[in-house]
Amino acid sequence: MKPFPRAEISRQALQHNLARLRQIAPHSQVMAVVKANGYGHGLLNVAHCVANYQGGADGFGLARFEEALELRAGGITGRLLLLEGFFRASDLPLIVEHDIETVIHHESQLDMLEQTSLKKPLKVWLKIDSGMHRLGFSIEQFSGIYQRLMACPYVAKPINLMTHFACADEPDNDLTQTQINAFEALTVNLGGERTLANSAGTLFWPQSQADWIRPGIALYGVSPVVGDKGTNHQLIPAMELVSNLIAVRAHKAGDSVGYGAYWQAKQDTLLGVVAIGYGDGYPRNAPEGTPVWLNGRRVPIVGRVSMDMLTVDLGINATDKVGDSVQLWGQALAVEEVAEHIGTIAYELVTKLTPRVTVELLP
Ligand SMILES: *Cc1c(COP(=O)(O)O)cnc(C)c1O
Repeated sequence: MKPFPRAEISRQALQHNLARLRQIAPHSQVMAVVKANGYGHGLLNVAHCVANYQGGADGFGLARFEEALELRAGGITGRLLLLEGFFRASDLPLIVEHDIETVIHHESQLDMLEQTSLKKPLKVWLKIDSGMHRLGFSIEQFSGIYQRLMACPYVAKPINLMTHFACADEPDNDLTQTQINAFEALTVNLGGERTLANSAGTLFWPQSQADWIRPGIALYGVSPVVGDKGTNHQLIPAMELVSNLIAVRAHKAGDSVGYGAYWQAKQDTLLGVVAIGYGDGYPRNAPEGTPVWLNGRRVPIVGRVSMDMLTVDLGINATDKVGDSVQLWGQALAVEEVAEHIGTIAYELVTKLTPRVTVELLP
C-alpha cells in the first residue's frame, strides 16, 4: 500500500500547463515561479519537470537564496531570479558564482553593491513600485537609483526592469492598467528585459506579458482568481492530495462526533474517518460541509478537523470501506472550491502541507 496522506504530482499536468501558458503568452519567455517548495509540489520535482525538455521553462523565480542554491545543486542550469533580491552582502559571492540573478528593490541592497567587490558583475532586475506599494522604488526615486546602478562596476548591464501587480486577479480593477501605464512610461527608452505579469497578469492582462511572464499558481493548474478554476483556462491541476478511509462507523441520530462534540447527526448515518488533519496541513478551520471526494462523489466534512483525522458523513446507504482512497483536492475536486469553503485561497492550501505528507511525483 502506498503511504498516506500523500500529494501526487502529475508531470503531464505541469508540462501541459507550461505549454498552455506559452500559448497564452506566445511572445514571452517563461520564468516558472517555484518558491515555497514549488508551491508545495516539491522544488526539484517541479523544476525538473518543467526544465529539461523541448519547450521547457526559460528560467525560474524564487524567493530565497537557499532555494536557488538547491536548484543549482539539483542540476538546474537555466536562469534563476531571486524575486526579493538578496538580504545579506555575504551571499553575493555565491550568488555570482552560481550565476543567480537578483531583484534590487531597496537602497540597502544598492549600498551593499556599492561597497562590495565581486569576481563577476551581478545580473539585476530593478523593481519599480508602480502601485502595489510593497517592494520597489517609487516613480520619483527611479531615475536616481537607475543612475547609481549604471555607475556600479559590479552590476551587469543592461539593467532589467520589473514590477508586480496588486490586483491583477480582479479583472475589473483599473489599478492594473494604471500600473502597466506607469511602468511603461518610466521605462520606455531604456534597454534591458522587462517583466510585469504574474499568473493573473498573464491570464487576464495580455498587454502586460512583455519579455517575461512570471507564472506561479497557474503553472500548478490553479486559477489565481477567487470563484474561478484553472480548468476554465485549460490548465490541469498538478496536485492530488489523497488519503485513506481508516474507519467506517454506524452513527445514531443525535450523536455528536469529535472534539467539542459540536456537530450532531440529524438522522442515523455512517461516518467515515479519513487519515488527514491539521498536522498534515489540512486546515483545522475547514467548516462543516467542506467537501472531500470519495468513490465518485462529494461527501461533507462533519465535526472538527483534528490533528491526524477528519470525519465525513457518508450517508446511511454508503458502501464505502476501510482502505478506500479519499481525495481532498485534485482533478476531481478543485482546490479552488475547497479553498472557498475554508475561506482562504488555493495558494495557501497547497503551500501549507507539512513534511508528514509524502510528495510523490507520478511517472
Ligand atoms: C510569487 C510571485 C509571482 C507568482 O505569482 P502567482 O500569482 O503565483 O503567479 C510572480 N512574481 C513575483 C514577484 C512573486 O513574488
